[in-house]
Amino acid sequence: MIDTLPPALAIAMAAALGAVVGSFLNVVIYRLPHQKSVVWPSSACTRCGRELSWYENIPILSYVALRARCRTCHAPISIRYPIVEAITAAMFALAFWHYGPGALLVSRLIFGCALIALFAIDLEHHLLPNAITLPLVVVGFVFSFFTEPGWFSSLIGIVVGGGVLFTIAEVYYRVRHEEGLGMGDVKMLAMVGAFLGWQLTLLTLMLASFSGTLIGLGLIVTSRGGLKYALPFGTFLALGAAAAATIGPGLLRWYLGHL
Ligand SMILES: [Zn+2]
Repeated sequence: MIDTLPPALAIAMAAALGAVVGSFLNVVIYRLPHQKSVVWPSSACTRCGRELSWYENIPILSYVALRARCRTCHAPISIRYPIVEAITAAMFALAFWHYGPGALLVSRLIFGCALIALFAIDLEHHLLPNAITLPLVVVGFVFSFFTEPGWFSSLIGIVVGGGVLFTIAEVYYRVRHEEGLGMGDVKMLAMVGAFLGWQLTLLTLMLASFSGTLIGLGLIVTSRGGLKYALPFGTFLALGAAAAATIGPGLLRWYLGHL
């Protein structure tokens, strides 16, 4: 059926679906760190607890129409909601346009949604929930039997992704006697390995370390070193993995061509 739609309409539908999924990701981002169910009860204002009606639950549009405030108690609604919805909508549209329908599209969309949720939760709570990372290691591995990167690269990716960070975390802990990397980061990179395979996982780690160091140095130079802990490593892993999944293959080809 998708094949008979005009391309622009199909991409617009993908974006609309993405906005709805983004709305669900907001629920995950808000509730998971508080150990609340993500499916029950339905959405409510976080201050006055009033349940939201359907027209207050429309992605992006409701935020604009309500002028970022609860209709009853006038509590401000976080800008995170429309941002997550807009990013997810854009990701769905771009992924559909780039991959077209198929197993790879579904695999990359699930992976992208996980990265968005992990980025937002780690940024706010310095936490990478097992409830996201561990099941998705399995999901990524299962998908690898039907599409990229293939089950063998996926398996090596899980072992290398988890193993490399686990070793770094152990060494760092023994040398510095403080925790530099959490086990959440280890499981997250194992998840990246399952979806992207071992080559793009190593690229993810390089990009995350590089951008993390760059921003860390920037914060020290501008003497805002106290912010060192404001940017947890999982956020850089999410950005690195998103870059590796999109421009990674081209980057690797370019790099290997210069060896
Ligand atoms: Zn309210």
